[in-house]
Amino acid sequence: MAIIPLYGHRDVRERIETALARNALPASLLLHGMRGVGKQRIALWMAQRLLCEAPSNGACGKCQSCRFALELKHPDLHWFFPRPRLKDADDLDKLRADYAEAVAERSAARGLYETPSGMEGIFFDVVRLIVRQAAVSPALAKRKVFVIGDAERMVTQEGGEHGANAFLKLLEEPPGDTNIILTSSEPGALLPTIRSRVVPMRIANVDDAEVAQFVEDPVVGEYLGGIDDFPSGTAKRVELAAGAPGRLVSAARWQVAESAAQRMLDSISAKSSARFEVAWTTSSVKARGGFADTLEALTVLLHRRARNDVSRGAESAARNASRAMELVEVAKERVENNIAPQLITVNLLRDLKELLA
Ligand SMILES: [Zn+2]
Repeated sequence: MAIIPLYGHRDVRERIETALARNALPASLLLHGMRGVGKQRIALWMAQRLLCEAPSNGACGKCQSCRFALELKHPDLHWFFPRPRLKDADDLDKLRADYAEAVAERSAARGLYETPSGMEGIFFDVVRLIVRQAAVSPALAKRKVFVIGDAERMVTQEGGEHGANAFLKLLEEPPGDTNIILTSSEPGALLPTIRSRVVPMRIANVDDAEVAQFVEDPVVGEYLGGIDDFPSGTAKRVELAAGAPGRLVSAARWQVAESAAQRMLDSISAKSSARFEVAWTTSSVKARGGFADTLEALTVLLHRRARNDVSRGAESAARNASRAMELVEVAKERVENNIAPQLITVNLLRDLKELLA
């Protein structure tokens, strides 16, 4: 079955059509904009347009390539995004099968998917796989298109300079039949060596009227209806999306993470037994993925706090909130290094108390 349509973004579509008409679409693009705004959906739309057999002012929507692209099973559409690190990831065929499965899952969910957890990444062997596939001729269409979502999670260094260089060379000068579309909601976190090799295109927020169309898509309605206690009614949902419809799809998990992070912050001013209790409950409930989300939410809360401090002129409090964010970054690294979440939380809360209480 086809993924849900691209809603809104008419200006971007027009810009891309104009560039194609002039034969001036950059081969390596970076779509950047707010998380959940639809960057990867736009990239998939572009891929369909580029692979279509009979485009006329947009993809035809009817040819075999269009149908395959919409079902996410076009052999020349290569979609990569953060995934959990695979054991034996250096086996590229196994890695390829893992992505095929992940894409099939997204297709089965009609293109609706949650933001990857903090533990997922585009690890170095994936970058190797991309380089390998880019060297192969298209299977069905005249071109091949690579979509690399959340590109700031790409790990290019671990494989040594040689591997990283192969990818940078690919970005700088893709084969003539290849388009590469990176997306990122944190373009500042991209490596400068990557950023300098792609042409940036800013993706604006979606108008409320178009978010409403997204919300009223029956597939979306069914998805959101399946989330416990999710607010109903188009107007309320449009307001929650705040111009980024994808935000609704991840909202349930994010709500859980944000309230866990808030409990952590609240416990800082409480006595130490309460801190231990929070450490115990926040980190034992869920697997590491959930804990990484909580740390991500903690960063967001601290960022908000720092901004408030700045706006009320409390410079030193703002500095402390910034330092607290650095401590959370250290905690995230410790999660990566397989340290027990409870231990990380106890230490983090102790350090945060010194800074913030
Ligand atoms: Zn077509």
